[in-house]
Amino acid sequence: MKKIILLFCILHSLINSAQQDPRIFDIINKISSKRIEKDITTLANFGTRNTFSDTISTTRGIGAARKWIKSEFESISKECKNCLNVFYQKDFVTTNDGERVPKDTWIVNVIAIQKGTKYPNRYVIMSGDIDSRNSDTMDFTTDAPGANDNASGMAGTIEAARVLSKYKFESSIVYIGLSGEEQGLFGGKGFATYAKNKEWEIIGVLNNDMIGNIEGVDGIIDNRAFRIFSEPTPANETEKERNMRRFYGGEVDGVSRQLARYIEKTTKTYMPEMNPMLVYRLDRFGRGGHHRPFNDLGFAGVRIMEAHENYNRQHQNIRTENNIKYGDVLEGVNFEYAKKLTSVNAITLASLAWAPPAPKNVLIGGIVQPNVKLKWDKIENETILGYKIYWRLTTAPQWENSRFVGNVDTFELEGIVIDNYFFGVASVSRNGHESPVVFPNDIIRETFRKR
Ligand SMILES: [Zn+2]
Repeated sequence: MKKIILLFCILHSLINSAQQDPRIFDIINKISSKRIEKDITTLANFGTRNTFSDTISTTRGIGAARKWIKSEFESISKECKNCLNVFYQKDFVTTNDGERVPKDTWIVNVIAIQKGTKYPNRYVIMSGDIDSRNSDTMDFTTDAPGANDNASGMAGTIEAARVLSKYKFESSIVYIGLSGEEQGLFGGKGFATYAKNKEWEIIGVLNNDMIGNIEGVDGIIDNRAFRIFSEPTPANETEKERNMRRFYGGEVDGVSRQLARYIEKTTKTYMPEMNPMLVYRLDRFGRGGHHRPFNDLGFAGVRIMEAHENYNRQHQNIRTENNIKYGDVLEGVNFEYAKKLTSVNAITLASLAWAPPAPKNVLIGGIVQPNVKLKWDKIENETILGYKIYWRLTTAPQWENSRFVGNVDTFELEGIVIDNYFFGVASVSRNGHESPVVFPNDIIRETFRKR
């Protein structure tokens, strides 16, 4: 009996301490706004980083920018005994590939991979963009500093690599600078295809595009709010899956949406001073970003960005007209805010890379029953603590209720009627990190008794 009580106490303290991992606070404290400022300044000072700009110079153009980013990743890697695998990944585009391609060129992405100790083929990805543009996206010579769009996202990605490379993770973390965003999401397409061909298991893509502006064109100034855009369901789902949703739900529960909810929850747990805003759409109205090519192939991916955009400061030649200053220059970037959003990324990457894999084959049952039943495949992992069932009202945007059910592969929630809620299951590690929630993908046909 004593043994049982002791075991219970240990388990209980584990579950309690599982709420928060002190290493996550260390990560937040280590992200530096000064280094982010320095890197955004360096990137803006390449004059233009238009995808079709100079590739030979070491001081101006996209070539200079990507060489510098690669050398930054390499020096970060030196500091951690070569913990990063740094390389260029490239694809050739021609004028036949789109209306916004003024000439044939190589689209070159810069990749840095921090291999996971336990699951090297599972990847969580943070991306920013190397390229910039001015008013005319075909103009690859005039200055386009792109300080916020998107040196901010790129600098945040480099800074996350600096801090996280000091830790070891079970799953791999990838830090990426993508190119060709402004002319047709070419870099994202190329890299998503590369990952697919290599059969990567992608946990999620955190695409950062404009994480430094706090003064909206609407006059609102806000240094705590930010947005997480996610599509509702995978773009490549089958007709059968689409049809299943009519009867079993899941219209707002695709993998990207679960990732978005995960980011919001992680932020509220560790950075409660921030105001994350889930936006239930792929991207801004009619506009695009580099998470989309990953979504196109069925990978979970979201866009993280500022809450209040300033259109005078994006995609504009530097000029003053009617006393209004246009242009994406350094003065428009709030480095402390970019630091906060970098922290949001870094803690999400760390939580996901420390978490066990999500349970597979999550089934649900309980039609015309007083209880709901869930069943899943257990993960073979000695660091797993168990599983957590989540549920929420069908109109709620975020998971509202949860119950830790231990290291089991089935559970029945008594008195919870399947018709009135949506359900999901997550894995929980001993150090408290959870996988994203998995929405059931099939129905339990047979009835089973609670043990
Ligand atoms: Zn842009």
